Amino acid sequence: MKAIKRCFQVPFLSRYIFFSFVILILSCVRSQPQVDRFKELRENMVTTQIKARGISNREVIEAMRNVERHLFVPETHIQHAYGDHPLPIGYGQTISQPYIVAFMTEILNLDKSSKVLEVGTGSGYQAAILAEICDSVYTIEIVEELGIRSSQLFKKLGYSNIKVKIGDGYKGWSEYSPFDAIIVTCAPTHIPDPLKNQLKEGGRMIIPVGERYVQELVLLTRKKGSLKQTSVLPVRFVPMVDEKDMIY
Ligand code: SAH
Repeated sequence: MKAIKRCFQVPFLSRYIFFSFVILILSCVRSQPQVDRFKELRENMVTTQIKARGISNREVIEAMRNVERHLFVPETHIQHAYGDHPLPIGYGQTISQPYIVAFMTEILNLDKSSKVLEVGTGSGYQAAILAEICDSVYTIEIVEELGIRSSQLFKKLGYSNIKVKIGDGYKGWSEYSPFDAIIVTCAPTHIPDPLKNQLKEGGRMIIPVGERYVQELVLLTRKKGSLKQTSVLPVRFVPMVDEKDMIY
């Protein structure tokens, strides 16, 4: 009886191994062109949306080329990940248009030693771009689910220099302040004082300021203690909210 059983088991096992092997080979053959396709789309994005519009900082261009934007968008929008527009990421929020990400990053004049604060982690894409260029990134997200999702993605992709906090970015992150640069990716109606106070001497902050559909991207620089403010671009970001607005 045992001998008969073994007789059935061995071919089943070998068949199982054989078919698993075939499936593995097929999935590798199928996913390879997909990976190459995304690389091609990313290269095209860098050429037509980033360089063509005047972004020239080498580190920023390299980061836009390296970070796989399609990993930060929901599966349903993956084919449009490299399009010239923002995309929904769930919870009524969006991942910014690639050009805006590059523009805001370039204007901060970052280098390998920079410590940056981001308000509005969202998909985590902007934080990943910053992490490619800087020493450390501190990012705050008010929607818990988005904060957790991004945190897990950073871990999976090996970004050990990004720290995520779930909370109200209006208050900044005083434990790690002052910051060389602050980037805000949701729009308050005025520039929060705690963020101004957490900007280092010589530091820069880029922040969209205004009402729901009309905002200006404002650049703040701290020189000899005082803050200089310039409007650089009209934009449209999701509003900055506080804990009492968080009703879903
Ligand atoms: N930088 C993001 C863009 C996210 S959209 C990316 O690369 O995908 C703006 C994000 O700001 C949203 O996820 C929103 O939930 C978050 N947000 C809004 N108000 C906030 C606040 N007070 N503190 C922290 N995050 C906030």
